[in-house]
Amino acid sequence: MESFDVIVVGAGNAGLCAALAASEGGARVLVLDVAPESERGGNSRFTAGAMRVAYRGVEDLRELMPDLAESEIARTDFGAYTEGDFLDDLGRVTEYRSDPELSELLVKRSFETLRWMRSKGVRFAPMYGRQAFKSGDRMRFWGGLTVEAWGGGPVLIDSLVRAAERSGVAIWYGARAMRLVAADAGVQGVELRRNGITVTVPASAVVLASGGFEANAEWRTRYLGPGWDLARVRGTRFNTGAGIAMALAIGASPCGNWSGCHAVGWDRNAPEFGDLEVGDGFQKHSYPFGIMVNASGKRFIDEGADFRNYTYAKYGRAILAQPQQFAWQIFDAKVTHLLRDEYRIRRVTKVRADTLEALAVKLDDVDAAGFLREVAAYNAAVRQHIAFDPTVRDGRRTEGLAIDKSNWANTIDTPPFEAYAVTCGITFTFGGLRIDAHAAVQSVDGGPIAGLFAAGELVGGLFYFNYPGGSGLTSGAVFGRIAGTSAAQIAAQRGASRPPA
Ligand SMILES: Cc1cc2nc3c(=O)[nH]c(=O)nc-3n(C[C@H](O)[C@H](O)[C@H](O)COP(=O)(O)OP(=O)(O)OC[C@H]3O[C@@H](n4cnc5c(N)ncnc54)[C@H](O)[C@@H]3O)c2cc1C
Repeated sequence: MESFDVIVVGAGNAGLCAALAASEGGARVLVLDVAPESERGGNSRFTAGAMRVAYRGVEDLRELMPDLAESEIARTDFGAYTEGDFLDDLGRVTEYRSDPELSELLVKRSFETLRWMRSKGVRFAPMYGRQAFKSGDRMRFWGGLTVEAWGGGPVLIDSLVRAAERSGVAIWYGARAMRLVAADAGVQGVELRRNGITVTVPASAVVLASGGFEANAEWRTRYLGPGWDLARVRGTRFNTGAGIAMALAIGASPCGNWSGCHAVGWDRNAPEFGDLEVGDGFQKHSYPFGIMVNASGKRFIDEGADFRNYTYAKYGRAILAQPQQFAWQIFDAKVTHLLRDEYRIRRVTKVRADTLEALAVKLDDVDAAGFLREVAAYNAAVRQHIAFDPTVRDGRRTEGLAIDKSNWANTIDTPPFEAYAVTCGITFTFGGLRIDAHAAVQSVDGGPIAGLFAAGELVGGLFYFNYPGGSGLTSGAVFGRIAGTSAAQIAAQRGASRPPA
């Protein structure tokens, strides 16, 4: 059998970045993924490729996107998203629980890491479709999320896999990592099952990048709480917490918000797990421009509390808590042109009507009279003298309701009306393994477990309660790169100290 210095478990964005960095550090690298090649790429492949990155202005963006045309620059207000802005957003939405050392690394390495990804063949583009609105005669970005991997998750994964293969990294699909082989001196390899056969592959260092436990209904219920077994999984069916379990079994320290997760409004009739044909299309993220009602016809959340990027990841939980775990999003003709692309997919649970009364009876499982009362009260509470502007927190609010809407409050009175049914779709879990600034997994007794590193969703301590949109891929890339670099260094040291075979 070939021999390897570093084994990476998981071939998503974090694992592939780790593999590329380890290979750059001179290591012979093997990547294992339990998924068959046709389903490769983990959750990363399901994404739109949105990546939160700190930049000082358009000149920085040009480094990531040298193809930006002058005409494009002239018609766009890219603004800036400084390291301070990124840190503030991360702090604010996580209620200042995010580990200071890890958050600083995430933010401060974000730009250079995307530049490094570009050097490996990943292409970036401005995210006009979902993150910019027309303001006067220019497109204006809002909400700190300007850059996407060109072609979204599928092309991101293809580019990283191609780069890994060019670097001589071996990738084994359909290979389930089962157990870490560890002794007093640390991790020495991985026991895995491939084609029905269990083998042990030795290595001097292992990087775990096998995702969270969102696809494991039993763990969801155990850690997130009752009802979470009923959530739909937005992405891969393979992220079942296996990497976390393997590390805990050899004494790794659990860390972070184990009862917390990223979860969104997701089509009520979406399947149990993600569908690669649909990608992220089952999500419904334009609720800041309408209202959401539950089975009683009542609003239950401030749809305009903040830009979508800072609320969507926690509103799945709020929907799960409603009777029968669903909500309807309601829009009128004044705002339907603002709805994101995902509202126009074929597999959508949508109704339409020319009057609110006709709409009310089409809302499955909703108390029609309660809904009509709610809309009337909401319409009466909108402060219409404040101008509507989707590019800023416009302060156009309601006043006097039990749950007010803080921004972008428009009356719902102009036909045709549209409504979309959503339930809770879980994206990934926040709890995971404790790592240090070298991405080394820490033991329960303190100090690193020699030879063990982690990156991506299974790292705990970064996200609590909520999450700033586009941080998952950036975190996977930043910590994947760090983990791969560290693993190659340790492998070189351990290899040198190992007696010749
Ligand atoms: C629908 C959707 C849209 C999203 N959109 C965005 C976005 O636009 N921007 C953003 O930043 N984030 C987005 N996210 C979140 C983002 O996908 C994750 O934060 C990120 O991709 C996680 O990367 P990862 O490499 O840690 O995990 P993954 O990409 O999930 O990779 C983990 C891999 O580990 C493998 N694996 C699991 N167990 C084992 C085992 N025992 N042995 C071997 N392999 C194993 C899995 O098969 C998988 O391939 C989205 C997620 C979803 C589901």
